[in-house]
Formats: sequence, C-alpha cells, structure tokens
Amino acid sequence: MLNAPSLLSRQSFNNKIYAYALMKPEISVVIPIYNEEAGLAKLFARLYPALDALDIPYEVIFVNDGSRDNSAGILAEQFRARPDVTRVVLLRGNYGQHMAILAGFQATRGEITITLDADLQNPPEEIGNLIAKMREGYDYVGSIRRERRDTAWRTYASRAMNSLREKITHIKMTDQGNMLRAYGRNVIDLVNQCNEVNTFIPALAYTFARKPTEIIVEHEERAAGVSKYSLYSLIRLNFDLVTGFSLVPLQFFSLLGIILSLLSGGLFVLLLLRRFVLGAEVEGVFTLFAFQFFLMGVLLLGVGLVGEYVGRIYQQVRGRPRFVVQTILEQTSDQVMQPAAARLKG
Ligand code: UDP
Ligand code: MG
Repeated sequence: MLNAPSLLSRQSFNNKIYAYALMKPEISVVIPIYNEEAGLAKLFARLYPALDALDIPYEVIFVNDGSRDNSAGILAEQFRARPDVTRVVLLRGNYGQHMAILAGFQATRGEITITLDADLQNPPEEIGNLIAKMREGYDYVGSIRRERRDTAWRTYASRAMNSLREKITHIKMTDQGNMLRAYGRNVIDLVNQCNEVNTFIPALAYTFARKPTEIIVEHEERAAGVSKYSLYSLIRLNFDLVTGFSLVPLQFFSLLGIILSLLSGGLFVLLLLRRFVLGAEVEGVFTLFAFQFFLMGVLLLGVGLVGEYVGRIYQQVRGRPRFVVQTILEQTSDQVMQPAAARLKG
C-alpha cells in the first residue's frame, strides 16, 4: 500500500525506520570463537564502545566454533544484552578458524565486513581506520602488524612462510597471518560462492578483490587464554595456504626429478667410462649411501606433497557440508520492534 506510513502513528513509523536500520547494518564484524571464555568479557568491553563510537549501523557476528568451555553461554548472554547489534552463529563442531569465519560470512548483511580475532590481539579500535580506508574506494583492506606480539619462533616461521608464499603465488600480502581485515560486499559475495573445504581466507578474498590495499595496525599480546594453534595445526594451515593457491610445489618436484635424472644419467656415463679406463670403483660407498638417503628424503617429501594435494582433492570430491550450523541467535524483524519501541520511549 502506497500510503501505509500515513496510517501508522509517528512513533511506530520511527520504530519502522529504526528497525530497518537494524536489519541492514553497514558494517558486519565477524569474530570466530574457540574456547575463549577467559577473554570474552574484555573483548566485549572494548569492541562495543569502539563500534558505537563510529556511529555507523553495525552488527557483530560471533561464530562459536564448537567451544568446549562456556564460550557459547557467554555469547548467548551477550546476545541478550545487545540483541540489536549482536548475532551468534553456533556451529555443531570445531571446524577451524577459517571455516568459522566462512560461516560468519554467510550471515553478514553489511556492505563492509571486518574480521578479527577474539583474543584482542587485533585492537578493535583499529576498525575505524579500516573503514576509513575502505571508503577511499578500496574493496579489500589488509593489515600489517607494526610490531608482532607473538612468540619468537612463530614470528620467524611466519615470516619465512610469508616470503615463500610471495614467491609461489600471485597474492601480494605483506603480513598474511593477520586477520584484522576489511572486505567489500563484492568480495564477500564471491567468497560465499566458493565451496573450498580447506582454505585461507585472506588469500581467497584477495583473489577476488578489484582494488586491494593495506594499512599498518597495532598488535597486542593475547588478552587471556592460550593460542588455539598447535605446531601441527599451524603446519596444516600453511599447507592449506600453499596447496590452495599454488601448483608450484608440485611443479618444483617434477623439475627436481628432471634435473636429478639428468645428473644421475651423467654420473652413470662417467662411472662407465672410468670403469674401462681405471677399473671398477669400490671406495666412497658411504658417500653414496649418504647421497642415497638424501635422495630418498627428497623423494618422500615429494610423495608426501602429492599426498597433500590428493587428500584435499579427496575431501573436496566427497562434497560433505563444510560446517554445520546448529542455531543462529538473532532478532527477527518482529522482535526488533519491541526493544526499539522500548528504547525510543525510555
Ligand atoms: N579459532 C577458532 N577455531 C579454531 C582455532 C581458533 O575459531 O579451531 C579462533 C580463536 O578463538 C581466535 C582466532 O581463531 O579468535 C585466532 O586464534 P588464536 O588466537 O588461537 O591464533 P593465534 O593468534 O595464535 O594465531
Ligand atoms: Mg591470537
């Protein structure tokens, strides 16, 4: 009906507008949560004021990645405290940080989506800077940690992986490990169309960005709890990054194979000639052993690497759901009217 607003009282018309604003936030903040009960209160205490201060309609989407502590309970409480801007996606199991973020992406409604970690290593106060940069016309704003606050071995290992990735993929990221990033709607829509089982979100999103850029941000020590990444899961994640975005490792082994075949062919000819000129050679057997073991190591690494790709292909072709959403705690549009009305009156 064209004249519907005129039939409504001013108050309820205002509520309608307010409700509409609530339904269509401009910014969606996605935060994966896995066993973070110790630090959530601190996160809320800094995140909400930082977002409120921006004065832009926003929503925070917490994705509980199958936490075994009381994180889900604390998130539900927070949803009750700020239902207008809070949504909670509860996953059935622990699918990993990147799958949790993907689950969050599917729920986003904002024009700009921000991702950050729950442990306050990414200061929420930086969100304003990311948005300011997005508004300059970029559709992907990555971030570089001014000074990384992690253990020394993590920092060095990650630097090494960063430069390897730089060489073997076409993705330009100064600091791949940092999750504090902003993505435009166009990028999120394309990421949501992907069905990758193993992925690395900053890299995946980068491949869809038309105009990416980076800014420098602060990094802090974990506010509470411990890192959820063991050495093993870090190795797995880096394999996801390398195998997901490059075939160079496979090609490297084919090339190595060619070079080694040529060299050993040459050696064979040399030994054959030597046998006719100087007689049979028996010394240097252990050197030969050492060389053999080295080659076997290289071979096993190559086979293992092929296995990494094959394993991922296997997971992908099975086509199982990547994650299972148990419930989403959110306000529906009729519920929105109630608190909105209360707020306008009070
Ligand atoms: N996380 C997750 N699922 C996991 C592991 C981690 O959702 O299986 C979340 C975790 O709660 C945090 C973020 O991913 O919000 C980054 O994890 P963490 O701080 O442990 O990683 P680090 O900073 O050590 O790289
Ligand atoms: Mg962390």
